[in-house]
Amino acid sequence: MKQHIKIPPESMLGKGKFLFDILKETCEEYLFAYDAKANITMLSPKLVQEFDLPGDILPDIIKSWSQLIHPDDVANYVTSTREILEHKTDEYKLEYRIKNRQHEYVWMHCHGKVICDSSGERALFVGTLSRLVRRSRADIVTGLLNKYQFEIDVKAALDNFRSTGEGGSLVIFGVDNFKIINETYNRFFGDLVLNRIGRKIENILPAGVKLYKLDGDEFAIIYSKAINVDVVDLFQSLQRYTNSQHELDKRKYLCTISAGTVFFPKDGKNYLSLHKHAEVALELAKQSGKNKLCFFSKETYNRWVKSISLRDELKVSVENGCKEFELFFQPQVDAVDRTLKGAEALLRWHNSRGKMVAPMNFIPLLEETKLIIPVGKWVFEEAVKVCKEWQELVPDITMSINVSYEQLKDVTFKEFVQDCMARYNIAAKSITLELTESCIVSDWEFVNREFDFFRKQGVNIAMDDFGTGYSSLSYLKNLSTDIVKIDREFVKKILQNDFDKMLIEYTVKLCHSVGMTVCIEGVEEKEEYQLLLDQCKADTIQGYLFGRPAPKADFVRKFIIDQENLKVKVI
Ligand code: C2E
Ligand code: MG
Ligand code: MG
Repeated sequence: MKQHIKIPPESMLGKGKFLFDILKETCEEYLFAYDAKANITMLSPKLVQEFDLPGDILPDIIKSWSQLIHPDDVANYVTSTREILEHKTDEYKLEYRIKNRQHEYVWMHCHGKVICDSSGERALFVGTLSRLVRRSRADIVTGLLNKYQFEIDVKAALDNFRSTGEGGSLVIFGVDNFKIINETYNRFFGDLVLNRIGRKIENILPAGVKLYKLDGDEFAIIYSKAINVDVVDLFQSLQRYTNSQHELDKRKYLCTISAGTVFFPKDGKNYLSLHKHAEVALELAKQSGKNKLCFFSKETYNRWVKSISLRDELKVSVENGCKEFELFFQPQVDAVDRTLKGAEALLRWHNSRGKMVAPMNFIPLLEETKLIIPVGKWVFEEAVKVCKEWQELVPDITMSINVSYEQLKDVTFKEFVQDCMARYNIAAKSITLELTESCIVSDWEFVNREFDFFRKQGVNIAMDDFGTGYSSLSYLKNLSTDIVKIDREFVKKILQNDFDKMLIEYTVKLCHSVGMTVCIEGVEEKEEYQLLLDQCKADTIQGYLFGRPAPKADFVRKFIIDQENLKVKVI
């Protein structure tokens, strides 16, 4: 709301107004004149506009102005202003970050001086504010120090090492799946999220460690004297915040963080190599599943170089019609009578030297390059073909197929699935699509819409790796799935840990009460199975105890022709 305030007749501002009005038309800088006694300030219109102030004559400016100043700079501003008000000085020069009408922090230089009246009394405090464009050290989204300042400060830290021998570490943080937040909502909301994350990281940093905002969704710190454990501690504290779901402006989002770390001088002698190596470590942290901290080393560097050539090799494989890909199949058995119920199709890839690569080493690369879209279609078609073939022998056998979020977003996927099922004349109820919990990122409405489409056709939907993601219970509540697959993480500890056992037991009960079925993954030991059978009452089980993933021919021999294989092992 605009304010219209009159200058009191006794104020010196009235006398200066004529000059102020002339200057404000010609002067590039923003002008202000402050009468401390009356506590009112006259401001040039450009200043009012840039900072969306309620008028050009305002009461109590110190209060409203300090609300716009970056939290890290408020203390300096207040101290300098107090020195003027308490007559300790007649002049001040100060640089600070302040939020403009676009909600961006800009660096300003403020130069003010006390003017006395004819009797020598302090009457006004007048001055100019100018934008520090070229020397700006602030990131405009978060107000944090920017990448230029990071470079300057890293160079200073290296100089300091040369003179004192004191090293340290650089850590670059990257927000996982940030582009999904931007895509799901919008860039403005994305900026708010970055601001929020920036504040959180700042809050947990040890005293004296500054946070910088680099390009995109990356932040960085220079952590002097730090060793491995210090960085690990810091990262764990950060995870305590990021591993849960957040809400901002009534919108829900998830944002874990990955981090890459280098130590100086060990991992690089200059800024460029240190920065590059920290980025390499960050990329590897993301490639190995995100929400991870990775330390740079020769070995990580070689892995990164390999991942670049791996990406090219994968591309060639896809262009060659996916010939180097193969599906393995793992049996899923009835939890009680251990008869064969279905199989999960698990992707394998043979690299150019014929070596088989495990999914965790290439699926993140397929997702990142979106090659998962054509490869996923190949997987779907192969799996449907195999399922149809097996139904000649086991009429009710089902096939579970993993699907990535990237595939779900692909507009051609739904039609492809329908068309493929029609071509092979397979009943939709024979097919289960598994979507990993950590992939179901933020947009539940979208995921539910896609799920509903498939469920209407009769296809089953499974929530994979349940319990490893961020907020499993909210997933259960908000997503419409038919099957929940409880991750091996829980099964691993049920023999030693009552809590995990009860967690499985109650999750199964909860799922059953709302009509979902439960598959328990990763059962390796007879004792684990026995306990699950006695207490947890799941519907199906998938685990090494009943069979490891195997090539098609082996699966047929071991689990279809000789189904007794699935039973004798237990009793
Ligand atoms: P997932 O979908 O949860 O598949 C189960 C994984 O657990 C498989 O690993 C399987 O070998 C492993 N597993 C099963 N039983 C046991 C057990 O008793 N003990 C242990 N330690 N592990 C067990 P795999 O084949 O390495 O696949 C890893 C992940 O790669 C899959 O996890 C899935 O998320 C992804 N993946 C595999 N194939 C595809 C695919 O075609 N498309 C997509 N998007 N992802 C896939
Ligand atoms: Mg799966
Ligand atoms: Mg799983």
